Amino acid sequence: MAAATVSATFAASAAVYGDCPDAKHAWAVHDWNRPKPHRVSVSPSGVPSDAIVLFDGTKESFSKNWRYQRKNADPWRIADGAMTVLPAKKGSGVMTRREFGDCQLHIEFRHPASLAKDSGYAQNRGNSGVFFMGSENGYEVQVLESYGTCEENKGKPGYIDNYTDGQCGAVYAENPPLANPLKKPGEWQVYDMVFHQPVWEGDRLVHPGSLTVFLNGVLVQDHWEMEGQTTHRKRRPLKPHPKAGPLALQYHGSEVSFRNIWIRPLESRWANKTHSAMSADERSVSLLRRETAARLYSKIANPDACDAETVKALAEVVAYANEGIYKEKFLAAVRKFNSSNRRKSDRVSVRETLDILVRCGVVPADIVK
Ligand code: MG
Repeated sequence: MAAATVSATFAASAAVYGDCPDAKHAWAVHDWNRPKPHRVSVSPSGVPSDAIVLFDGTKESFSKNWRYQRKNADPWRIADGAMTVLPAKKGSGVMTRREFGDCQLHIEFRHPASLAKDSGYAQNRGNSGVFFMGSENGYEVQVLESYGTCEENKGKPGYIDNYTDGQCGAVYAENPPLANPLKKPGEWQVYDMVFHQPVWEGDRLVHPGSLTVFLNGVLVQDHWEMEGQTTHRKRRPLKPHPKAGPLALQYHGSEVSFRNIWIRPLESRWANKTHSAMSADERSVSLLRRETAARLYSKIANPDACDAETVKALAEVVAYANEGIYKEKFLAAVRKFNSSNRRKSDRVSVRETLDILVRCGVVPADIVK
């Protein structure tokens, strides 16, 4: 919510504005000192400037970024801007030469239009899959021609039955898609995914990892927390594995084309120990608060002054670290400020700052004159 009750002028210049840093928060609410996000521009074709392009439609891009999982494999077809896995004697999946951990992935896929007339076994209809962390220890989001597999189509012409945790958009063998937004075979489909791997401390699972998946812009996996590694028929509990692995595209004996593949490696969502109460480590929070206090204090031209701007600047410092020289200079400045005649606007703005410190328990109430 915007600060409707506080003037824009005050908001823009306030040293202390929202609730103060505390043991679990390195930053105040609405903290102007908090680091800003890095700039990302997006190309006309939708590729973010900080993404790694894994396939741009060219043979060079394919050979630079991908290799076959099987030796002497029959090659995929690279043509018309797509890389296509085909039924083959020596069929093979492909995997990236680089390894990734947590990431955002964009990938488009297409099944042959001829599948619309094929009523074969559902798991053989354009089966492939996107594997994070490799296909051995990884996590598969299913690629399958499942256009006709939806509850309201049951018993009608074109209905394709299947086990639900194996249709397109499923975290295979674990969680069905929340909806079926597939287009008909022959049309390009778009996957956008966010993958976070499980976090372990030794053999203790701290966070199970998650998959969020959009299929053609529709949410089909809503932060699904993995129960295990990808499996078939049997449940396979999570277990520790290396923190990076290749992205793999499955060979399952079906024809499937892929294009426009890019990936953005992400830091673990648990890596930032000062971000918020969810992952906050009190020691890390305390260190960052002290660093910030030192940085802000060093910018104060004269900490012995007692004008309104200096009082507010020192108030900001003690909001991060109310100790030692910071506390001493702040209290002295407030005493001097309170004991001298000041413009009304200065008294109001200092009072607003001190009120926030009092409300947050940084300083006692009697500091407010
Ligand atoms: Mg598959």
